[in-house]
Amino acid sequence: MTSENTCLPGMSACARQFTATVSQVRLLARDTWAVRIECPVLAETILPGQFFMIRPLSGSDPLLGRPFALYDVCRDAAGQPAAVEFAFVRIGKMTTLMSHWVAGQQVSLWGPLGNGFPVADCDHLLCVAGGIGQTPFLGVAKEALGLAEFGNPPRSTPVRPSRVTLCYGVRSRPWLAGLDDFRLPGLELEIATDDGSYGLHGYVTSLLKNHLQQKKSGVHVYCCGPEPMMKATAEICAEANVPCWLSLETPMACGFGACFSCVTRVRVGENEWDYRRTCVEGPVFRADQLLLVDH
Ligand SMILES: Cc1cc2nc3c(=O)[nH]c(=O)nc-3n(C[C@H](O)[C@H](O)[C@H](O)COP(=O)(O)OP(=O)(O)OC[C@H]3O[C@@H](n4cnc5c(N)ncnc54)[C@H](O)[C@@H]3O)c2cc1C
Repeated sequence: MTSENTCLPGMSACARQFTATVSQVRLLARDTWAVRIECPVLAETILPGQFFMIRPLSGSDPLLGRPFALYDVCRDAAGQPAAVEFAFVRIGKMTTLMSHWVAGQQVSLWGPLGNGFPVADCDHLLCVAGGIGQTPFLGVAKEALGLAEFGNPPRSTPVRPSRVTLCYGVRSRPWLAGLDDFRLPGLELEIATDDGSYGLHGYVTSLLKNHLQQKKSGVHVYCCGPEPMMKATAEICAEANVPCWLSLETPMACGFGACFSCVTRVRVGENEWDYRRTCVEGPVFRADQLLLVDH
């Protein structure tokens, strides 16, 4: 791993560009893989909900990097952060290319980028994931349960939730990704499938509603997934008066605030709105700040 020792413009002080090597690729589910990249500097600084941009080291097609959220930080035998892992689903040009990567692949990556999820300081943290939107929640859950620390120095978690639940929905059982990774001590894992092939038959938002019908106080909701699902989650939380944070997956080109291709609309006052860059001011936003559109 080499680091071009330049901080990227507009970004947090520790965002850097790296040349690094893929050390492991594992199949997680249908059309879904986890890729491990040896990059100790990135591994020791990145936080749950932050992301990095990645592209192959050689060639010019695709020209632009693509954003991927941190799935996990992998440690060496001495317990030191050594590698980052991300999980992806194959949908287009870059992810199809990535689905053929094997150990030894040289990549260019830059990060850590974005703000990440806040430290969970509630009684019950409810994570709501749709499809590949589950990726940030492995790190979120590990940190909230006290099973791992992230950041350099590790960010403090003064109040840890007494309950951490992941409600995870996919369209059908073959797309359930990384269930073994999520079998963490203390994590309540609840699953919904659109077709009823596993877990609850229905949308993941039904699992959320079940929880909020039982208890609202002390609950915080973190959500990531397709935008209609995040909009539904935001509405359910607003109705229940429960704080909710969404991690947006707006397509973006640079990742560090220069190109403004990833803007989203946020409320800035009574009946007023403005744009914010998902890559720099996000990707995690308070749901009640966002103006989400119907799809
Ligand atoms: C902050 C952030 C974190 C992300 N984390 C992850 C992650 O951890 N794992 C992961 O798999 N993906 C993640 N994504 C989405 C990922 O970046 C895209 O899936 C990827 O850029 C697609 O690249 P591609 O070249 O394969 O597709 P392209 O060839 O660029 O696009 C192919 C087609 O897919 C559509 N498309 C592109 N992006 C999306 C999208 N997000 N949702 C639906 N359709 C899309 C395009 O409109 C186009 O029709 C994240 C996105 C953001 C902004």
